[in-house]
Amino acid sequence: MSANRRDFIKFVVAGAVTAGCPVDIGLVAQQGSEAHPGGAAVDSENNQICHQVRDGKVFSRPPASEKRDVVIVGGGVSGLAAAYQLQHRDILLLEKEPHWGGNAYLMEYEGAAYATGSAFLEGDSEAVHLAKEIGIDPLPVNDGSDGAIINGVFVPDVWGTGLNKLPYPPITRESFKKFKKEMMGIDIEKRATELFNVPFSSFMKLYAGEVKQYWDTFGPSNWGAASDDTAAAIGIYTVQEMEAMSAADHRATWPGGIGALTKKLAEVLQPKLGDRMQLGATTVAVVPGKEDVQVTYMAGGDLKTVSAKAAIMATPKFITRRIVEGIPDKQSKAMQQIRYAPYCVVNLIFDKPVFNRGYDTWCPGNTFTDFIVADWVVRKKSGYKQKYNILSCYTPMKEDDRGYLLADVSTRKIAANVLRDFQKLMPETNVDPVEVHIYRRGHPMYMSTPGLYTNVQPLTRQPMDRVFFANTDSEGPVSGTPEGIVAARRAVRQAEAKLAGTAAKEKSVAG
Ligand SMILES: Cc1cc2nc3c(=O)[nH]c(=O)nc-3n(C[C@H](O)[C@H](O)[C@H](O)COP(=O)(O)OP(=O)(O)OC[C@H]3O[C@@H](n4cnc5c(N)ncnc54)[C@H](O)[C@@H]3O)c2cc1C
Repeated sequence: MSANRRDFIKFVVAGAVTAGCPVDIGLVAQQGSEAHPGGAAVDSENNQICHQVRDGKVFSRPPASEKRDVVIVGGGVSGLAAAYQLQHRDILLLEKEPHWGGNAYLMEYEGAAYATGSAFLEGDSEAVHLAKEIGIDPLPVNDGSDGAIINGVFVPDVWGTGLNKLPYPPITRESFKKFKKEMMGIDIEKRATELFNVPFSSFMKLYAGEVKQYWDTFGPSNWGAASDDTAAAIGIYTVQEMEAMSAADHRATWPGGIGALTKKLAEVLQPKLGDRMQLGATTVAVVPGKEDVQVTYMAGGDLKTVSAKAAIMATPKFITRRIVEGIPDKQSKAMQQIRYAPYCVVNLIFDKPVFNRGYDTWCPGNTFTDFIVADWVVRKKSGYKQKYNILSCYTPMKEDDRGYLLADVSTRKIAANVLRDFQKLMPETNVDPVEVHIYRRGHPMYMSTPGLYTNVQPLTRQPMDRVFFANTDSEGPVSGTPEGIVAARRAVRQAEAKLAGTAAKEKSVAG
């Protein structure tokens, strides 16, 4: 693509990198502090709050002005699922962004939905159950074990029938087949402790470099990490799943991905909770006490404190550990050990059909790892006409490159590189989009590193007396919407038990 042509394509940057910027509990002034009697003036914009904290500004904690049973912090799928389960209670749900959904959030281009994060569900998961309960059945993907574009050739069902068609020399193709056979023979359950604690790459030493290249493409997109940083159990399980998927694809989704689920959850909850669901509300401190837990948040430029019987933290742990006071040292250190990959999703919007040959197509050796056809699951519905062919290019990044996302100009450059690589894939993809949309996130996907699932995550989710930990990063073994829902369910059970205990105590005091 010439510089001229690129100049005419509109690159739209969205998403907040700094929005993930943690607030440090140490910087929250205690109520009535002499040093900071009134607290510092703070702006209402989410990123600015984080910047101010980073720059050492001090927030005051006003006295509690409202009381709730439970405050839920974070309106991603985990926080929304917790709110859904607790809707019979007097709850408050706080989300710092101007929209619900967190990493499962969809956007639209002239009515056509596309994903900015989470793409599909697998099998009969908690997320599928919840979706059905709220009246939106996901639609089947039905595309085998995914295709790949390798050396300019599209190969469908790579890990099934495609293994015989890989456009590599015969020796490399044989290496792929041997790798699959060896992985299929491993009993993960029997060797779980070992396999969750060694890197996936330690199983790749005897194979062609292209095998590692494939998994170094697949891993970062799916669980945030290349094979050197991936727990072997996860990689081996995935190879085994590919075999099953090649026979029967159990994935399901909606146009625009799992954002459809969070959108619907918010729609279902809104009439019931009304202004007890707050967007643009950044929690800056969660301070547990003997009688209550006090949650201070900033909304519309004002700081407010709410007193609750319990709090559920559905925020990622790199934020949680900074805003919750009194987390035991060992637990806080475990939270700090979780690594998060930066991640862009670049949506290429075409006003004509460009690529509809596979749902999720892998592209080893490019700026992006894979791309998804946004409306794949409805494209064959009778009466449906694809107005825009939107291709969501997944672009996970190395931790060291997070800084590139801080400026619009370098983010746009990443998107331009994605477009350049996409157009070089095959002659049929050498087409100019009408627009390119980039959604960037600084820390959206935790990395499924060796030891994380077995040693770290169990420590991070230990309940405190009044504070309980949801979010997908409590759960594992990979970052996923079902895992976020499972984590929410556990936190809700713990909060309900606390509330039941509190109610029993109040009754016995009164009686
Ligand atoms: C690019 C990408 C692709 C993915 N693909 C899939 C997929 O295909 N299938 C799948 O199952 N999973 C996928 N995932 C993972 C999935 O999206 C996540 O596991 C899931 O969305 C996490 O939900 P959560 O609610 O636990 O956390 P989050 O989505 O991180 O939600 C946390 C929320 O808390 C808010 N918050 C943070 N700090 C504060 C604060 N101080 N005050 C108030 N609010 C705050 C955040 O803004 C956010 O909305 C993907 C993830 C990414 C990034």
